[in-house]
Amino acid sequence: MKPAVFDYHAPAIVQEAVELLQRYGEDATVLAGGQSLVPLMNLRLSRPGHVVDLNGVPELDYLTVDGEGIVVGATTRQRTLERSDTVRDLCPLLWRAMPLVGHFQVRNRGTVGGSLAHADPASELPAVALVLQAEVGVVGPTGRRDVKAEDFFIDAYTTALDSAEIVEHVRFPSLPGGTGTAILEVARREGDFAMAGVAASLTLDPEGLCSSARLALFGVGPTPVRVIKAERILEGRAITEELVGEAAAMAVQDLDPSSDVHASAAYRKRVAGVLVRRAIAEALARATGEQT
Ligand SMILES: Cc1cc2nc3c(=O)[nH]c(=O)nc-3n(C[C@H](O)[C@H](O)[C@H](O)COP(=O)(O)OP(=O)(O)OC[C@H]3O[C@@H](n4cnc5c(N)ncnc54)[C@H](O)[C@@H]3O)c2cc1C
Repeated sequence: MKPAVFDYHAPAIVQEAVELLQRYGEDATVLAGGQSLVPLMNLRLSRPGHVVDLNGVPELDYLTVDGEGIVVGATTRQRTLERSDTVRDLCPLLWRAMPLVGHFQVRNRGTVGGSLAHADPASELPAVALVLQAEVGVVGPTGRRDVKAEDFFIDAYTTALDSAEIVEHVRFPSLPGGTGTAILEVARREGDFAMAGVAASLTLDPEGLCSSARLALFGVGPTPVRVIKAERILEGRAITEELVGEAAAMAVQDLDPSSDVHASAAYRKRVAGVLVRRAIAEALARATGEQT
């Protein structure tokens, strides 16, 4: 099927893109990698009158390191992160998440900003952003603002972006020494969206106690779900197998996933609990240096 008729715009700078979005309001949409938008348009589930293509805006495509972490321009391809030694060394959770996003053909085109802006409940990147306390740099008609990941995801496919705003960059802060991370998911086939998944980060203090734990589940709610009660169980304690079991049980206690053709709610919940347990163990092994 082909998309409904639309006008195509190819701005060369961010300001021009914002002006186009402001001019056409709700009738305009941004095109980045097109991996989600184009299928939606072809199925006529999205019928924008104006498509504003960000691919000709070079200032949005970069990956840089500053004192506080790495900054990724919105149209940076997912595959660029996957192949980056900088991302592997400075932001291993982000690097480990990349191969889980679709197939490499999808990641060759799919962008970091597009994945966050699309806010699919089963997406890996929103959960990673939540765990890493990323900040989303947004630009719109009234200027620039930074939105914390925890304030960015409002509902399924709904973010804190206003209609004339675009994601400009994402900042992923560096994690302190003694931190280990992990991301695990279960999907029907490699490249499919997750039926359930978890991203985890654990930091140990010099005595080996857990000084910070962050856990975010995906595929089990309308947005990525941070499970703070489970994190609290781990913090300030030496992590034992028993404690991991307790945290995993707490993580899924309040979950209310939906059932669909891919998996029942009960299955999703059960799998999420198992994944939390495994992800904590894996992050712990990395924090102690037992695993790379
Ligand atoms: C076969 C297949 C499998 C996939 N599997 C996965 C998976 O396992 N996990 C996963 O996370 N994703 C998966 N995806 C989706 C893929 O990762 C997309 O790349 C991603 O969801 C959207 O990024 P995009 O750059 O392609 O954005 P587009 O498709 O171009 O845009 C998506 C939406 O975001 C908006 N948008 C894009 N960029 C911006 C911006 N800078 N500012 C504001 N709004 C913006 C667009 O207007 C649109 O509404 C899959 C896709 C396919 C086709």
